[in-house]
Amino acid sequence: MLLWTDDGRLGVPFLGHNTHDGIKAGPPVSFRSRLLLFFMIIVIVPMVAVALVLFSITSDSETGKTDAQIAQGLRAAFAIYDSDRGDARPQLAHVARDPRLARALASNDRGALAARIRALAGSVPGVLRISVFDSGRRLLAEGGRADAVAAAVAAPSTARRRIGYVAVSVTTARAYVSEVRRVTGLHVSVASGGHIVGSTIPAGVTGRLDSGNVTIAGGDYRGRVASLADPFGPPVRVGVYESRGKLSSSISHRRLVIAAILGAFLLLALLSSVVVVRALQRQVETFLEAARRLARGDFSRPVPVEGGDEFAQLGREFNAMSGQLAVKIEEVQRKRGELEETIRRVGEAFAAGLDRQEMVNIAVRTAVEACQADVGRALPLDIRRMKTSRVGEETPELEAALETAERRAFEIHLEDSDDWLAMLDATTDGDGDEDGDGEPPHVRERRPVRVTQGAYFAMAVPLMARPALGRGVEQVGVVSIAREGRDFDEGEYDLFAYLAGQAAISIENVDLHETVRRQALTDELTGLYNLRHFHDTLDTELERQRRFGTNVGLVMLDIDDFKRINDSFGHQQGDLVLIEVARALRNLSRDIDEPARYGGEEMAVILPQTDVAGAELLAERMRTAVEDLEIDRLDGDGKIRVTASFGVASLPANAHDKAALIAEADAALYRAKRAGKNRVARAEAVTAES
Ligand code: GH3
Ligand code: MG
Ligand code: MG
Repeated sequence: MLLWTDDGRLGVPFLGHNTHDGIKAGPPVSFRSRLLLFFMIIVIVPMVAVALVLFSITSDSETGKTDAQIAQGLRAAFAIYDSDRGDARPQLAHVARDPRLARALASNDRGALAARIRALAGSVPGVLRISVFDSGRRLLAEGGRADAVAAAVAAPSTARRRIGYVAVSVTTARAYVSEVRRVTGLHVSVASGGHIVGSTIPAGVTGRLDSGNVTIAGGDYRGRVASLADPFGPPVRVGVYESRGKLSSSISHRRLVIAAILGAFLLLALLSSVVVVRALQRQVETFLEAARRLARGDFSRPVPVEGGDEFAQLGREFNAMSGQLAVKIEEVQRKRGELEETIRRVGEAFAAGLDRQEMVNIAVRTAVEACQADVGRALPLDIRRMKTSRVGEETPELEAALETAERRAFEIHLEDSDDWLAMLDATTDGDGDEDGDGEPPHVRERRPVRVTQGAYFAMAVPLMARPALGRGVEQVGVVSIAREGRDFDEGEYDLFAYLAGQAAISIENVDLHETVRRQALTDELTGLYNLRHFHDTLDTELERQRRFGTNVGLVMLDIDDFKRINDSFGHQQGDLVLIEVARALRNLSRDIDEPARYGGEEMAVILPQTDVAGAELLAERMRTAVEDLEIDRLDGDGKIRVTASFGVASLPANAHDKAALIAEADAALYRAKRAGKNRVARAEAVTAES
């Protein structure tokens, strides 16, 4: 759908006004923001998920690491405990060999035991605590520090009889936990018999010993508790702890690193997405701009195409589309130009109307332009009726091509014409094909001949027309066009044939029109003007006389004794006399004179710019001419001679108006008859007042 805009440019509405063609305008969300949103969704959401997973993994792994550390610490605590036990072995040997203690034990004397333990604890260096059990492992007595741990145990015996067990500690709970902390770096608490006896956690000696996440003295810790294998005495448990603050700060640190890496990645993704979106947007804007240019009808700048990606392909397609559109629009514009030209020509043809020459000129011009020829011309056969019409600059080569084509067109016509005449001979016998309607169509519809001379191409076609009613189609001329470089195609050939045919019809129409016009004005028998034209002419002349004061002469004549000719030789002979007298009148008339048949055998001649004397002179010459006529008798029996009587009058000498002028001439004619016929009588002068 292409429309012409008011200023004559070609609009392409389907590009310019989307909303009219059903493409709804969406909400004003730009392509860019949509793309960014898309990137956010495909980048940020997965990254958040990754962050969550990584955070949780970090937390788990940090906790696991801490737990492993704690377990390691616990093993170290066990080992140190064993080592401390080992440390107590020399003192244990000393105590266990003490005979007094052995005796007290063997006699199961608790008081003696307690006294001996006190004595030993005070005397044996390094001993912190001594406990004694009977052979059933029940505590009999103990002494020394309550916070001593890691006792080494011996079973003294007498006479192969076990008398009980002796346990000796050289390590305080405090020293033990300090040692474990020094080795493991972890906090350690140790409980004996349900009470915490030593701890590296400040103020951590109160409360219970628990595994897992615990709060000790206001601090958060994670730890594990295990029982130390002490076969004697109250159960000893050790707890190894890591500060949860340290753990969580480690987790936080890890998380910070992860967050930083993810953040950097996110930033990178955002930056790259902005760059990509920008690039896409630029491409889209390029296309948008190009589409807008197309909509404005500007095809001058193609979309820049780089590389081989989809955008480049799209650009190439777009440019191809734009190119095709430009060609189409150019074609439409050219067609429009041609249409305008054609309309102009039709207008010219209307205006030329009955101008035979102008019709042919238009036909040649149109043929040259429509067939894109370099030159064209129309040569008439009868140069009195038409002149040669030429279009374009005829070079010698073009002219030679035109001439060859014209000659060929004539030759072919002559051949065809012979055929046609033979055909006419065969048919006229029957019905006398006088109106020419029966001519074969090929006679009128001539096909052009084509001529090629080197790089020059020409076409010529005879102009076939009927020059007058009652005559057959004749060649009245030839039209030809020529050009250099390329031959005429079928379309041009047909168009040329059509235009030549139309030109011929126009010529014929003009001829026919002239015939009809002549017939409307003339008398059929004599060829003189008829009575109506006589009156029209006289009116015109009287008007001219009134304006410019010129004279108008009038001669009226009546053939003498005409009835007798009719009676003696027949009506047809009378007609022939009328024809011959009329011819004589015409021969003597000047170009400006208007001889007419007034009625029956009366004739009249209007003589512009002629006074009565001049009219009389001309009438006298006419009278002599009629008198001298020798008219063949239709029966072939000699000649007939006739005479005529004339009356002349003129304006303003003899009358003031048309009726009076005719009446005066008629009256003069009557006087000529009365005076003996075959003479000229002159009207009488009028007085000023009559
Ligand atoms: P005069 O000398 O007095 O004019 O005698 P005339 O015989 O000519 O008499 P008049 O003018 O009265 O006769 C006119 C005759 O012309 C009468 C009519 O039959 C004859 N006539 C009129 N028109 C035609 C015509 O077209 N053809 C022929 N053959 N005769 C015509
Ligand atoms: Mg008469
Ligand atoms: Mg007469």
